[in-house]
Amino acid sequence: MTKVNVGLRGWRFDEDEIFDESGEIRPLADIPEDARYRLVRLTAVVGEPCDACWLAEEDLAACNQADIVYGEPLAEVLLCRDHERDFLYWFRELGGSEFAGTVTLQERFHEWFDDGGRAPDGYEGLEHVDRDPGAIPMPTGAGELEAVECQVEEMDEAERDALDVDLDDLDV
Ligand SMILES: [Zn+2]
Repeated sequence: MTKVNVGLRGWRFDEDEIFDESGEIRPLADIPEDARYRLVRLTAVVGEPCDACWLAEEDLAACNQADIVYGEPLAEVLLCRDHERDFLYWFRELGGSEFAGTVTLQERFHEWFDDGGRAPDGYEGLEHVDRDPGAIPMPTGAGELEAVECQVEEMDEAERDALDVDLDDLDV
């Protein structure tokens, strides 16, 4: 099954689960719960600043926009290209991977980075990843996320509750 990213690199979706045969986003009700939750969450985090820039910079305007997302919805780690290598270093070399799949991942990475943790010079996280060509598929365009957002907007509250995709909860 082909894995795809939507909007940001990082979270991977089974193409067949979220797109129909003609390549359109499926109705949210037809998308499995975990994928649906991540898709809706993505509509809120796309365009947000990189966590590491934000921790290192007083000035929000100087932060890079995130283009990579790791971790769990509502406890995700958002990263720019420059800071992805710091995250990957921490994740792979310093035991960060033990928090994979938990909401603690974000907190632990932030602590490490805020304490001055950085990948050493010469650590090329991305090159390392690129050796596994299946690991990082390129994101699809922003149009898919707009389609998700439209669907959420068109739902009434009961429908959102039923699907557990209330944006008020997600937009923290
Ligand atoms: Zn950054």
